[in-house]
Amino acid sequence: MQRFDLIIVGGGLTAARAIGAYRDAGGDGRIALLSRETRLPYHRPPLSKRYLRGETDAESTLVEPEEFYVRNGVELLLGTDVTSVDARGQTVSGYRYGQLLIATGSLPRKLGAPGADLPGVFTLRSLDDATAIREAAAQTRDAVVVGSGFIGMEVAASLTELGLDVSLLSRDSDLFAQLRSPEISEHLVSVYRDRGVEIIRGDEVHAFRGRSRLDTIELHTGRELGAGLAVVGIGVQPATSFLAGSAIALDDGILVNERFRTNVPNVYAAGDVARFYDPLFGRRRRIEHWSNADYQGAEVGKVLAGADGGYDSVSTFFTESFGLTLKVFGDISHHDDRFARGSFEDGDAVVLYLERERLAGTLHTGQSEEAETALKGLIGKPFSAESFAVT
Ligand code: NAP
Repeated sequence: MQRFDLIIVGGGLTAARAIGAYRDAGGDGRIALLSRETRLPYHRPPLSKRYLRGETDAESTLVEPEEFYVRNGVELLLGTDVTSVDARGQTVSGYRYGQLLIATGSLPRKLGAPGADLPGVFTLRSLDDATAIREAAAQTRDAVVVGSGFIGMEVAASLTELGLDVSLLSRDSDLFAQLRSPEISEHLVSVYRDRGVEIIRGDEVHAFRGRSRLDTIELHTGRELGAGLAVVGIGVQPATSFLAGSAIALDDGILVNERFRTNVPNVYAAGDVARFYDPLFGRRRRIEHWSNADYQGAEVGKVLAGADGGYDSVSTFFTESFGLTLKVFGDISHHDDRFARGSFEDGDAVVLYLERERLAGTLHTGQSEEAETALKGLIGKPFSAESFAVT
């Protein structure tokens, strides 16, 4: 049986960053990358934005060119569907490992509604998904986007920019409800409406209809929408099903400490799939964003090489649609108080989320680099909202 010092399962951004950081930190073991994907690791943010709109090609989404993997002596075992891990025997897919990094990311949730598997109904996760949506968009005039989270908001904007008539279906009355900001929801409603997007709130898909491919969507209220294309963005699940029965502890993701170690010796996890310990908040979190995969990949690479490394950061992420960039710092999911300053309409706003009188997170737009650095520095610290003004 072939043995590798480091096997990485899952070929996304986390994997690519881990390889680079492992070598930079002096890791000299044999590395293999096992991934279901047949492509080299690529960046996902363009898939709902520039790539979907046809403004960039597949090549430019690559995290690293092929030469990077050759130079770093990585055995690329792409197109490998890993179905189990034997943690006791330290083997995976017929290979023995010294250390194992699981970076399998997450998989889109599907709607259980009738007709959800009709051609023309898509989820968006992979480059192939984005290509298929782009091709379908060129063949139709009307699209329905289901869900008003990251995928829903970004894809609705991109399809509108491609010239389609887009309806955005949100089961919540607020758009982007997970940002917990009625101010931003209200602003987005007006921006999207101005661009011609029909916003339908408080309704859900009852059924996707069509003979051989999607042509109509029936809603719970009985309303029918003509749709040559539907993109469903209703969240993701950590890709852990192959770990069932493996002794690796799971709880909505793979449980790891701040050095990305699981409960099983020599097994690590990072990126979307990892429920890691965030020392700033003193709790476990799982983060499904590019910036997290980028950061955690680099940190776990150092740890795997035996160097210092671990989660010691203020998490950040951003989203962009119709030219509006929103950034989130920290953790806005647990707040017990919030304050809004400025105006999203004027392009200068900060929402502050407090948890037990500490600043837990911010949602903001239009802030200078210095202001953002200052905001980041305040996260986790005792905070008085009265003393805060938008710069
Ligand atoms: P998401 O951001 O978690 O949003 C899911 C949306 O779907 C929410 O509006 C949610 O509403 C709604 N929803 C959930 N279940 C539903 C159901 N059964 N019927 C109707 N609506 C439902 O997930 P996503 O937009 O699908 O994005 C997928 C992943 O890609 C996420 O991890 C996201 O972070 C990532 N992503 C990130 C970026 C970025 O960082 N810029 C961009 C694109 C994608 P409720 O609030 O009611 O649950």
